Formats: sequence, structure tokens, C-alpha cells
Amino acid sequence: MAGAAIDELSAWLDAAVDPFVACDARENVCFLNAAAERLLGWKREELLGQPAAWLFPKRLREHGGKSLLRHLLSRRAALGGRATRVLACRKDGAEVLVELTVGASGQGPDERIALNFRRLHEVIDIVDEPVERALPRHETESVGGDALFRTVVEHAPLGIFYFDRSAIIIACNELFVRIIGSPKRVLVGLNLLSLRDENILHCVRETLAGHTCDYEGEYRAITSGKKTPAHMRFVPCFNSAGQVEGGIGIVEDISERRRAESERERLYREAQEAIRVRDDFLSIASHELKTPLTPLSLRLATLERRLERGERVDPSTLRHTRMHLLRITSLINDLLDASRIEAGRLALHPEATRLEGLVAHVLRSLEPQRGDHTVHFEAPEHPVQVNVDPFRMEQVFSNLVENAFKYSPNGGTVRVSLRQHGGLALLSVSDEGIGIPPDQQKLLFDRYFRARNVSARSFGGLGLGLYISRDIVERHGGRIWVESEPGHGSTFHVALPLMAGAPAQPPAETPEQLIH
Ligand code: ADP
Repeated sequence: MAGAAIDELSAWLDAAVDPFVACDARENVCFLNAAAERLLGWKREELLGQPAAWLFPKRLREHGGKSLLRHLLSRRAALGGRATRVLACRKDGAEVLVELTVGASGQGPDERIALNFRRLHEVIDIVDEPVERALPRHETESVGGDALFRTVVEHAPLGIFYFDRSAIIIACNELFVRIIGSPKRVLVGLNLLSLRDENILHCVRETLAGHTCDYEGEYRAITSGKKTPAHMRFVPCFNSAGQVEGGIGIVEDISERRRAESERERLYREAQEAIRVRDDFLSIASHELKTPLTPLSLRLATLERRLERGERVDPSTLRHTRMHLLRITSLINDLLDASRIEAGRLALHPEATRLEGLVAHVLRSLEPQRGDHTVHFEAPEHPVQVNVDPFRMEQVFSNLVENAFKYSPNGGTVRVSLRQHGGLALLSVSDEGIGIPPDQQKLLFDRYFRARNVSARSFGGLGLGLYISRDIVERHGGRIWVESEPGHGSTFHVALPLMAGAPAQPPAETPEQLIH
């Protein structure tokens, strides 16, 4: 060909959109156009005279003892002019999926081999014509079936990908891309054997050896590092000769299932804990209710005997009998109140109430239980008027003072103080008793809660008094809290809003400092 004609041809080929490479009989590159330079990342002068094999990944350079180009040339008739899908290798080592048509002209040393590439921007689908396989005519006509299959794959609620004999992902659906969290361009062309996950590697090898394999675990995205709990099933694909052609991976994102499982476990643990608390409570409650019955029955028997004999009855016997009855009544009342609170049915009947009177009344009525304790009431200078249910508030204060007596078994002073602070009435009850372990203080107001230092020393109680007290106080717009040091006593505080219009004292501290 004349030089001018060659130049003209080169100019045409350079203007072409598709990459084009020509090589000689020894498969050394003798021409490449500008599009091929762009696709493959080589400069023309770098590649001229070099083996065309450089344009393909090493593992693809040989097929059945022939070079890739010779292999493709031998299949030209079978392919009927159709392109072959193959991975090309750029100068920087990156692999790109291309469609390649190979043709040859001339004989012997004059032979020229032409390589026509087409870059695949869009990822091929799993149902596309398989790589390096010429389909028999009747198969290529089954377009309807292919389209249907394609739709199923694309809309399946599972991630699906297809990989070839060399473990390279050839196609995948959108859900697979979403589950794995890496872009499609990274996934397609990815060699599964280059992954670091030993479990996946094992499954891929098993699949390529013709076995189905399952794997469940956390998949770590290559690009983002995002971890996805997934179940993967690997299934081999066989050709008509029964040889493995590649495999299909079916991936299920099991994050939801894992979440549901851990939620179920949590609920189960909570239910178990609730059952344990209920059983503990039932045994404590039965014990508590039974304890006063024995002395009660003994005292009643004594009374009966004395009356039968016409002897004088000691009023203290009757007083003690009544005390036991009161104890049982109070336990039953606590049980009833707790279930009313749970059902949201504990009724309050607030009225204008003078707290100093109420506190004094509580202390008087608890006098029989005082035992060795000294009680010191620091009364306020001015009346403290609040809008509360007096019966319920008496229940709160009684509970605090009773606890102060109960949990200071060695006696000591119980100090009760009532004062006004800004818009608040502040009551505190302190004792010099056993105190409360710091980690347990927040839990005291929970239903059935009893600190570990009381159960160990077997103080009676159901763990309901403070739970009921907190409900009553908070429903009056107030707060209840505790300060305590184990072994050095406890102070319980109650803050209640003063009645509007009641004379207020200027606050020394802000209410926030006072209300915890
Ligand atoms: P109960 O006294 O019947 O167990 P409460 O609800 O009144 O129930 O109290 C709950 C728990 O709080 C008690 O079991 C005890 O562990 C702790 N507690 C309450 N008051 C005091 C106190 N003054 N000193 C030490 N611990 C206390």
C-alpha cells in the first residue's frame, strides 16, 4: 500500500470510536488507534512491537495450549461474527470488561491479526450470551425467555451474581450491589479469589469444583468497609458436557433477621427476669404475710384462755394483736396500691393541706414503732401549705419514717425537717442506719426493688413502699430522691410545689439545685 494510503487509513482508524489493535503473525502489535490508547492506557510507541498478550490478564493468555488470539481465531466461524466478552488488561494492571472481535488477513509471515474492542460501560446481565460461547441458533431465538429470566433476576429479593471459571464476577443484579455496598464497576470484573475472606474463598473453590456451598457471616465491603450480615449460597453452573463453567452466588441480607433474633433474645431475657422477679416476690410476699399470723394466733389463743378462766386481760396483749393486724393490712394495702398504679387507677383527692400538721400527725401515730430511736422534728417557722391528697401524702411520710426506723437497727436519731424554699416545700427524713450501696440508690424507687444489703440481713419488706411513694409524689408535681452512704445512714428528700398564693420564702438556692 502506498504511504499516502496508509496515512489515510491510519487517520480513519484514529477517528473511529472503537479501539482497534493490529498485530503481525508473531502476535506483536504493529498498529493501535487513538481509542485503543485511551482504553488500554498505553502510548502507541510503547506498545508497537510488543506482544499483544500484554493486553490481556496473564490467566487468560492461553486456552487449550493456544494463545488467546489463536483460540479466538479458531472460533470465528462458530461465533458467526459475534463478539466475545473478555477481560482486557490496562497498562496500570486494571482489568476492563470488553467485547472483542478478532479477524485475520494474509498468510504466513504476512498474516495480520485485527483486534476490535468495544468497551462495556453497562454491566452485562446474567442472562446475556455467555462469555466465549457461540449459542446454537434455537437458543439465540429464545429472547422472550431470556427477557423473562432477566426480569426475575433483576427483581428477585436476593442479591445474585454470576462468576466464570476463573472466579471473576461477570454480572450481578442491583440488589447484590446494594447488599455488598460497593459500586457495580468494582464488583463486575472482581476476582473472588482475590478476596481475603477465607469462608468465601472456600465456597468459591468448592463451587468451581462442582459443589454447592453455603456461608453465613459478615461480609465486609471492599470500598467502604461496611459490614453486612449475609447468607450466601454458591451454586455451580455446568455446560452441556458436564464441566463447571462458573457459578451463581445468591446473597441474602440477613441484617433484619439478625436484629429480630437479638430483639427476641432480649425480650426472652426480660421475660425470664420478670418471671424471676415475680417468683421472688411471691415467696417474699407469702413470707411477709405469714410472719405476723403466728404471733397473732398465739396472742389470740392466750386471750381466749384467759377469758375462759375469767382472768384479767392485759390491754397490751390486745394492742400487740392489733399491731400484727395493722401490719397485715398495710402489706395488703401496698399490694393493692401497686396494682392500682400499674393499672393507672390510683385516685388522688388533693385539697389545701398544712404539711407541718401532717408530719406531726405521722410522727405521733408512729410513736409505738419508734423503739430505741430518738426522733427530732425540725418544724418550719411558717405554715407550709400545699395542695395534696392528705391521706396519700401521709402514706409517703409514714413510709419514709418507718423505713428510717426499720433500717437503723441500732437505734440512733431520726431527723425530720420541713421547710420552704422558693416555691417548694422540702421535707427530709434522715437516719443513722445501714445506708444504701451507691449503685442501688437509683433503683430503690422501682417496683419490688430491695437493696442487696437488706436482703442479706433479712429485714422484712416487699419493696413497694418507695415505688408507691414516688408515684404519689410525682403525680403531685413533686420529686423524691435519696442521699446515702453505706453504714452511715440515709436521707430521703421530698420536694412538693407550694400552693399558689401561699406565703413564700426567698430562695437561697435555685430549685434546680434542690430537685435532683
Ligand atoms: P421495703 O422497705 O418494704 O423493702 P421500700 O420500697 O420502702 O420497701 O424500700 C425499698 C428498699 O429501699 C428497701 O428494701 C431498702 O433496701 C431500701 N431502703 C429504703 N429506706 C431505707 C433506709 N432508710 N435506709 C436504708 N435502706 C433503705
